[in-house]
Amino acid sequence: MAAAAPAAAWNFAPNEALLGLTAHSVRGALGRVKAGMVADGGGGGGARPVIPMGQGDPSLFPCFRTAPEAVDAVAGALRSGEHNCYSSCVGLEPARRSIAQHLSNDLPYELSPDDVYLTNGCAQAIEIICSVLARPGANILVPRPGYLFYEARAIFNGMEARYFDLLPEKDWEVDINGVQAIADKNTVAMVIVNPGNPCGNVYSYEHLAKVAETARNLGIFVITDEVYAHLTFGERKFVPMGVFAAVAPVFTLGSISKRWVVPGWRLGWIVTNDPNDVFQKTKVVDSIKSYLDISSDPPTFVQGAIPNLLKNTKDEFFNKTIKILRETADICWEKLKGINAITCPSKPEGSMFVMVKLDLTCLPDIKDDMDFCCRLAKEELVVLLPGCAVGYKNWLRITFAIDPSSLEDGLDRLRSFCLRHSKLTK
Ligand SMILES: *Cc1c(COP(=O)(O)O)cnc(C)c1O
Repeated sequence: MAAAAPAAAWNFAPNEALLGLTAHSVRGALGRVKAGMVADGGGGGGARPVIPMGQGDPSLFPCFRTAPEAVDAVAGALRSGEHNCYSSCVGLEPARRSIAQHLSNDLPYELSPDDVYLTNGCAQAIEIICSVLARPGANILVPRPGYLFYEARAIFNGMEARYFDLLPEKDWEVDINGVQAIADKNTVAMVIVNPGNPCGNVYSYEHLAKVAETARNLGIFVITDEVYAHLTFGERKFVPMGVFAAVAPVFTLGSISKRWVVPGWRLGWIVTNDPNDVFQKTKVVDSIKSYLDISSDPPTFVQGAIPNLLKNTKDEFFNKTIKILRETADICWEKLKGINAITCPSKPEGSMFVMVKLDLTCLPDIKDDMDFCCRLAKEELVVLLPGCAVGYKNWLRITFAIDPSSLEDGLDRLRSFCLRHSKLTK
């Protein structure tokens, strides 16, 4: 066979917009933070473990292991031999029915299985919603600091992302005036994350009512990311945004990833909370179905496990998780007070994260939040997320969902790092 003539060039050109989106991802930022880290560095004999306080995935720690009933549900679904097939586009009916019932417990009305669409984790729910809402010229309002996956998916779909502030001095409430100021005729929706990632806040009933009123006045939908639903350990209880769906229609996004501590199982949902049938009338429902026809589905056997997983998981499991999170949030709050160069505006009451502010004037040799995290990883083997990865420069996001003794160790190392690099002699 004759050797093919060398191609002068291949007809591929990288999509520069796509290459730029890695800057909008937690994984991209953590990759950069860890790049210079050499495991078991630090010298001095004893090997120090890496303390992972960057990503919110406590599944590695035995104290956060998922409920045995959840494992039984999946094992049972596999053994039944009934879930080796393709699923339907919207998801298996029994799973959708059980999720509808599960979520209706906290609502003033009943959801139907037809309101529930199963997705490959909450991440795919975000992808789908951003694709469904996108049209040329449209924009979507997202919180800052926030979960940048929304921006990335919006931008990738050709939508503009506009930022409204969360207010640190008001427990990270939405700056309602800011929302009104940036919305216009092309705004389709606003996003809230409750309980909050990255801030660890939990919104009150009154605040959510204000959000709903604002959305209604602006004629925009509310997307509520409730992937941390019920993971609260402070004064405030979780209130689902769906409670206010008669004021403004709500997309509720969720998954089993965080509450059951199984992010690898990839099962999430989009729920349309819409007692006035706005989504039906405006063809949102048709758009979601159409999108699902051209996307992949979550694994069928995990869908098959959902009814038993929801029905059988004991309160004991949830209470244990909450108890540990309350303890680690307390440790975090107390220890952070003793670290110069770092201030924490409010104590976390939900999710697994807290935002803290860096005072770079105390740290003359540190350039910014990314530099801080890279050097902390290198020198102390402690991984934190730089604020730039949540749209908040020179702040840090700390994950406290790790086992308590590792957390204490990690915060002590953070303290020595700050002291060592500090010009204060405290
Ligand atoms: C973790 C997380 C997700 C993604 O959840 P998966 O179910 O693992 O895809 C979505 N939104 C927020 C705010 C998260 O923290």
